[in-house]
Amino acid sequence: MTKALATLPVVVIGAGPVGLAAAAHLADRGLPFLVLEAGDHPATAVREWGHVRLFSPWRFTVDPAAARLLEHAGWVRPDDDKLPTGAQLAADYLQPLADLPALKPHVRYRARVAAVTRLGLDRVRTAGRENRPFLVRLADGDDILAQAVIDASGTWGTPNVLGASGIPAHGETGAARFITSALPDVLGHDRDRFAGKHTLVVGAGHSAANTLLALTDLAGQHPGTTVTWAIRSASPARTYGGAAADALPARGALGSRLREHVENGTITLLTGFSVDSLTTDGDTVTASDGERSVTVDRIVSATGFRPDHSLSGELRLDLDPILGSTRALAPLIDPNEHSCGTVPPHGVDELTHPEPGYFAIGVKSYGRAPTFLLATGYEQARSVVAALAGDWDAARDVRLDLPETGVCNSNPIEGDDTVAAGGGCCGSASAADVAAGSLAVPVQLISLGDRPAEGNSGSCC
Ligand SMILES: Cc1cc2nc3c(=O)[nH]c(=O)nc-3n(C[C@H](O)[C@H](O)[C@H](O)COP(=O)(O)OP(=O)(O)OC[C@H]3O[C@@H](n4cnc5c(N)ncnc54)[C@H](O)[C@@H]3O)c2cc1C
Repeated sequence: MTKALATLPVVVIGAGPVGLAAAAHLADRGLPFLVLEAGDHPATAVREWGHVRLFSPWRFTVDPAAARLLEHAGWVRPDDDKLPTGAQLAADYLQPLADLPALKPHVRYRARVAAVTRLGLDRVRTAGRENRPFLVRLADGDDILAQAVIDASGTWGTPNVLGASGIPAHGETGAARFITSALPDVLGHDRDRFAGKHTLVVGAGHSAANTLLALTDLAGQHPGTTVTWAIRSASPARTYGGAAADALPARGALGSRLREHVENGTITLLTGFSVDSLTTDGDTVTASDGERSVTVDRIVSATGFRPDHSLSGELRLDLDPILGSTRALAPLIDPNEHSCGTVPPHGVDELTHPEPGYFAIGVKSYGRAPTFLLATGYEQARSVVAALAGDWDAARDVRLDLPETGVCNSNPIEGDDTVAAGGGCCGSASAADVAAGSLAVPVQLISLGDRPAEGNSGSCC
């Protein structure tokens, strides 16, 4: 790196948990940095699912370098064993972190990054590329030069579509006003949108399960609230999990409650239903799979998330054709093989693209794989920042101390719905897995949304 380049900041895109962890490491190492956050406060995405309780306890949701900075400033660490909600993670950890004197002057809000490229070079020009600064263009037209870019912009803003083929269903775009993406706060902030209405929930992961149970609670309070659940697979067994035999009791309880509601008719289940088209008529929307159709007031799309690589279209990225992560990372996070609990620690080597100095970290780095955990994201941040500081021994000494219990579920995905719904850490074990006792790896207790209150096995996606 040239001397002039080294005086430019490392730009971090996103003040979510992983972007702020990168900032803490950059501060720790004395590197110049600037965090650009689209929202008007830190943890904008996390606050949107603030009503959901994490399944990882505080112990695994606080970055060590961030904790050191905070503790130095007198921060009192929350109880390591308690499970925070998204709102608590934001208020009790991420906001104080972003407000530290070491970070605050270097975090810019309402700064949405629109594109990242090399100053004066498009993707095709090679000569001298690594010595050119990055040019980071904001949505408002501002340009910022950077020595390196750490993209921690997450995937929350780019949910998967309802269309079962990965592209929008016919009429999906036109029906957008009827569609809510995953994890609306059904019993709180978003109550009025669902009370007394008929809602279709699409997806088979835990976010679908959470929303379904919240809707059944709402139905108990508001007559006329009705619930239909559509899944692509032929059976909901995977979402139900192992009931009382489940290795994870809370997950079993969630599945049991869901099954009970389906069996007693509170929830109408449509199996083998792949959304093909949506048509609207006044205040209602009809979803069809080509043969069957259901007419409702609202649809909750709980079909997972995907990364937005359009920001970095002028950079040289080598993306895995399936997941959209780096190629080196893909086999380590593949949801066909891994749950979040079995992803090995990884760092700068696995995150490196042909474009020197650009790294995607955090949940975005996993592309479409739903196996991400904050603990792995924090280790990515530590390793990448160590590499940027030239400390390659530390950068390559990647570690991950996951607990024997209490961080996530342990089963890789099975079947179509899991992928669509964001299975893996967000999915549940199949009944067969549970019955066969195949939950062999360190299990993470999936816990639970704040609401519905009891027996709720919560979800990351
Ligand atoms: C409901 C739910 C529960 C979860 N529970 C757990 C759990 O218990 N344990 C666990 O380990 N993981 C959990 N996860 C998974 C994961 O840890 C979280 O998704 C986490 O928020 C990812 O952090 P991040 O910093 O990578 O991305 P995000 O938290 O999504 O942060 C990205 C930030 O970038 C900003 N941004 C986006 N685009 C731009 C742009 N163009 N320019 C500037 N800023 C931008 C966003 O506003 C946001 O603030 C959960 C996820 C969900 C959705």
